[in-house]
Amino acid sequence: VTKNPQQPEVNIGLVGHVDHGKTTLVQALSGSWTDQHSEEMKRGISIRLGYADATFRQIPGVDAPECYTVEEETEDGTETDVLRTVSFVDAPGHETLMATMLSGAAIMDGAVLLVSATEEVPQAQTAEHLMALDIIGIENIVIAQNKVDLVDRERAIENYEQIQEFVKGTVAEDAPIVPISAQQEVNLDVLIEAIENEIPTPERDESEDSRMFVARSFDINRPGTTWDGLMGGVIGGSVVAGKLEEGEELELRPGREVEEEGQTEWRSITTEIRSLQAGGNMVDEVRPGGLCGVGTGLDPSVTKGDALAGQVAGKPGTLPPTREQFTMDVELLDRVVGSEDDSVDEISTGEPLMLTVGTATTVGAVTSARSGEAEVKLKRPVCAAEGAKIAINRRVGARWRLIGIGTLK
Ligand code: GDP
Ligand code: MG
Repeated sequence: VTKNPQQPEVNIGLVGHVDHGKTTLVQALSGSWTDQHSEEMKRGISIRLGYADATFRQIPGVDAPECYTVEEETEDGTETDVLRTVSFVDAPGHETLMATMLSGAAIMDGAVLLVSATEEVPQAQTAEHLMALDIIGIENIVIAQNKVDLVDRERAIENYEQIQEFVKGTVAEDAPIVPISAQQEVNLDVLIEAIENEIPTPERDESEDSRMFVARSFDINRPGTTWDGLMGGVIGGSVVAGKLEEGEELELRPGREVEEEGQTEWRSITTEIRSLQAGGNMVDEVRPGGLCGVGTGLDPSVTKGDALAGQVAGKPGTLPPTREQFTMDVELLDRVVGSEDDSVDEISTGEPLMLTVGTATTVGAVTSARSGEAEVKLKRPVCAAEGAKIAINRRVGARWRLIGIGTLK
């Protein structure tokens, strides 16, 4: 089993329409080791988080772009030099999972937008995902024109021009478009070069208060484990500021709903960090970049089944407030993403909205709507700082559609 020599230092979202090749590309770039961690805990966390890390390497003495590779050795046995390890967040392409994609976007430092050369541009989720990147403010983008092995030269050029036309005036306007075949592993060196150039590792300030967005939570114990063999609850997600260290105290907000004398209220949870996993290895501390698993002292029943997904964790006393209601500035889209003619009506008092804040998704009822502003009361509270971006979805027909972006006041 090959081991990843490094922890990932940057999160790259992989977005695009279903079947355009996201999972195939992650596999081609990350090799086979991602699912091979033997220990139960590592395995459980890796698989459940759905992450895949890739270590980009360079062949010494070879010019760009041919020098870029993910192989540890060339065919003639030359050892390659490690550039950096990146973590891909493989966003689900299915349209009903838009909210998941948006919550994933909260932890993306950049994105690769995959577009199949075999279909007209844009397909529904290609448009929706690009809009989401725009809204969340992800500017470091590389476009991969995939499946070029399936089309002739003329069609490839036509499709390339369609992509150029489509991204005009969007956040991806200046993004490089790299023709590839993820399946045949063609032109991946040029793609790696583009990612190295366009999606740099952000500068991090270690002295900041630590902040983790929780994307998953689970119980890693097998059914029937006896009390003395029981492992504490595990949370998975991404550190976005500062660093987490083994042995430290950790606060989670909003925490838990407690009932006392007929009253219910949300109270934050405090626990300790018992173990940390990042990049497939057990580590003493975790900095931003990649996804991590945190073994806590919590009763596993508290973390079971993603019960703590959407929460925010950090050093006790430093987290933003828990909000059961808030006011947000609202910027509506011109039209419902993925449709030609549905214009977006103003938000009205009383209507339900689905809101994604960080990794949290919750339904809120609009208690007051004015032009450019809305006040909402949430079904489930969120922990969020002033200025946080909020993806706003409205029910249109049978599904929630993205209609705009809010900024928490
Ligand atoms: P996802 O839904 O975006 O994750 O797409 P997948 O990675 O699951 O790919 C969908 C299908 O397209 C699979 O059958 C892949 O084998 C195939 N595929 C992906 N990339 C390529 C490519 O570059 N060339 C060809 N011929 N097929 C591809
Ligand atoms: Mg996939």
